[in-house]
Amino acid sequence: MGLFPVLAVLLFAMAVVAAISYLRMEEMQAEQQSVQRDGEHSRQRVNLRLAERQEQLQKFGRELQPELASPAAFADRVSLLSLDNPEVLDVTWLNLDGKARASKEMHDTAGYPLPRPGMGLPLPQEQVLLDEVRKSRQARYVVVTRHEGEDAFLAFMLPLGQRDAPDSFLYARYNLSSLLYYAIPSDVFASYAVSLMDAHKRVVAGQSVNPDDEKIAWWQLWSSMHSSVYNAPLATVDNVLTLHLRAYRASGSMTNRGLFLLVLALSALTAWMLIANWLHLRRRQRSQQELLSETSFRRAMENSLVIGMRALDLDGRISYVNSAFCQMTGWSAEELIGQRPPYSFWHEDDHTRHHRILSKTLQDQIPQGGYVMRVLRKNGTTFEARIYMSPLIGVDGRQTGWMSSMTDITEPNRIKRQLTNAYERFTRVLDALDVSISVAPLGSKELLFANQAYRHWFTDDNAAGHMQMLTKAGSPGAPVEGVARNGEDTLAGLPTTALQDASNNTEIYLAGLGKWIEVRSRYLEWVDGRLAQLVVATDITARRQAEEQSAQHEARAQAASRLVTMGEMASSVAHELNQPLTAINNYCNGMISRLRNGQIDQEALLGALDKTSRQAQRAGQIIQRIRTFVKRSTPNYSDADVETMVVEAVELAEIEMRRRNVRLQYRVERGLPILRVDKILVEQVLINLLKNAAEAIDLAGMLAERRHVRLDVSTAVREDRPVIEFSIEDQGSGLSQETLDHLFEAFYTTKAEGMGIGLNLCRSIVESHQGRLMAENIYNDNMVTGCRFTFWLPIPTTPVSRDSQTITS
Ligand code: ADP
Repeated sequence: MGLFPVLAVLLFAMAVVAAISYLRMEEMQAEQQSVQRDGEHSRQRVNLRLAERQEQLQKFGRELQPELASPAAFADRVSLLSLDNPEVLDVTWLNLDGKARASKEMHDTAGYPLPRPGMGLPLPQEQVLLDEVRKSRQARYVVVTRHEGEDAFLAFMLPLGQRDAPDSFLYARYNLSSLLYYAIPSDVFASYAVSLMDAHKRVVAGQSVNPDDEKIAWWQLWSSMHSSVYNAPLATVDNVLTLHLRAYRASGSMTNRGLFLLVLALSALTAWMLIANWLHLRRRQRSQQELLSETSFRRAMENSLVIGMRALDLDGRISYVNSAFCQMTGWSAEELIGQRPPYSFWHEDDHTRHHRILSKTLQDQIPQGGYVMRVLRKNGTTFEARIYMSPLIGVDGRQTGWMSSMTDITEPNRIKRQLTNAYERFTRVLDALDVSISVAPLGSKELLFANQAYRHWFTDDNAAGHMQMLTKAGSPGAPVEGVARNGEDTLAGLPTTALQDASNNTEIYLAGLGKWIEVRSRYLEWVDGRLAQLVVATDITARRQAEEQSAQHEARAQAASRLVTMGEMASSVAHELNQPLTAINNYCNGMISRLRNGQIDQEALLGALDKTSRQAQRAGQIIQRIRTFVKRSTPNYSDADVETMVVEAVELAEIEMRRRNVRLQYRVERGLPILRVDKILVEQVLINLLKNAAEAIDLAGMLAERRHVRLDVSTAVREDRPVIEFSIEDQGSGLSQETLDHLFEAFYTTKAEGMGIGLNLCRSIVESHQGRLMAENIYNDNMVTGCRFTFWLPIPTTPVSRDSQTITS
């Protein structure tokens, strides 16, 4: 397709060249023919004339008699020839030896010396000619040139006398120019450059020939530069001369060349126009193609749009609607285009509003951000749409109308409503919680989220409360002095996933609110990608108060229980105290009577007083122990030496045991670590268990040999941790199944005066020390031979070791 014009141009150029070539050849052929004809004619004329001259001279030679040898007589005879022989320059009669007998110049010989009588021929070429003629005994011609560029002449030598034995020679010299001039008709001279050339192709007469003209260059075929020539050797003069004719350039050659150039120029112009046209066509085709693809692209885009497009002209007439618009409204493009307001998709109730908006738009007051309208479909249903208007500017920069886009927002609105409802439900639930929930980015006062409980607690609507709780709870997200102030991320470099997994659970007291709060914090990635901290705060004031109350109750119960224990032990204690008091009394009475009788010396008195004082100290010690034991005290955790505790507890318990006639054996392992416990409470547990054991033996009415209680204190591993285990074994009646089931319940007792709170308190004391209390029967075969109470207390992770010993009483 695209090559066709090029081919046409090429064909056209070839046709032009062929036509010109053909014409030119025709012309050249005609020219050649005429030059051949004229040349032939001229040659015949020259040949004829030369033949005539030769004949004349031969005749003249035959007539030559020896008496004519005198120069005057010879001259006279020669003069007769000269009239009609203008081309003959001179004639000389030569002897057989080549010396001149007589000579006669007939025309100007242009400086060629005549051979004088008795002398030889003057030029070497003439001498050569003579020798040749003498040898061949025949007439001969030769072209003689003295010097290059000088006029040449034709020399003719004729042997005279007998044919086989010539006796003399006649020698004539012809002027070649005259020969041409007289031999060739004048009209030939008018049309051709005529010349004679010698055997070496040198021009010897006539118009000189440029040898280049003889060659025909290729380009000359199509121009008028070439001229036709004719060359023919002259047979009469033994072919020593060649007649040469060259046609003058045709008179019309300039016109021809002009025409040729014109044709060439026109061809070039045509070719250029064709090429330009072709290029233009190609450009047009390309832009047409682009336009087509652009149009189809736009159409495809338009058709794929879900946004309805509508164009209005400046009067508000619909000039265009896209397929989405038609699909949305249900009206066809034909129905819509050309409509003026009120349009068919306007809802009847909204006409006034739409008119107002449209007139504002037409006055160039386009509503910013578009407007929402109710669109009436052809089937009578409606939907909500958002309309945006923008001016439609033509190619010349002038406004031609308005373009409006219409988006169906029913679905977005529905989703928005759903989202709002979901959000409302979500916040409603969060607000209904009596737990405060707040989220704030790390180290910032900005509050990202807070529920109603938070806003209720901390009336300021910022993250101050959030921060306060974190600071009190010692969370890593709380602002750190000097670091957060510089705006640096205090958590820079920490992996966020690890942070998000870490959650804290701390109980704090907020004096400002007068509340105990349990704070749980957790890191989370906020919706905008920031690392934030979520704080869930629960009001635990009530729980805390209850706990405190129950702790108080328990402390009171423990104290009461200790009093009860002592009350139960009161008769034993009284008995125990009675001994030293009786001893003191006895000592005092003894000393008084001996003093009265004057029977005592100072030494004996001092001894008696010393004994009295020791008894008083012993009584005081017992009272001190009881006081310390029953004194009501707040929980007091301190480093306690196990052995000391055991010794002190045993000291009190033994009072009761002695009264009940029960023997106590106890063993404390050496090197036990120091425990961190409330000493009095642990002693209370020991005393209770020892007292119970003694009572069980007593109540069972055991014989003297079975009235034993064993106390063992040693280290052990329980529940995977190192502990100190206390075990109390008695040989009483053991525990019945019912007792085992209710053993640690409060107020469970099998004794008439029992309170039933001892074991219950023991267990809570042990458990408050992270220990365990257990009871089991001791069997001998299937016989219950007593029971064992065991409790253990965990050893602190950094125990303090010291020397220990085993004490046995
Ligand atoms: P109380 O001693 O005032 O009865 P406890 O709580 O100390 O209250 O004891 C509860 C019950 O457990 C006792 O009444 C008794 O029946 C039983 N018990 C406690 N220790 C022993 C023991 N070593 N041997 C047998 N029974 C025991």
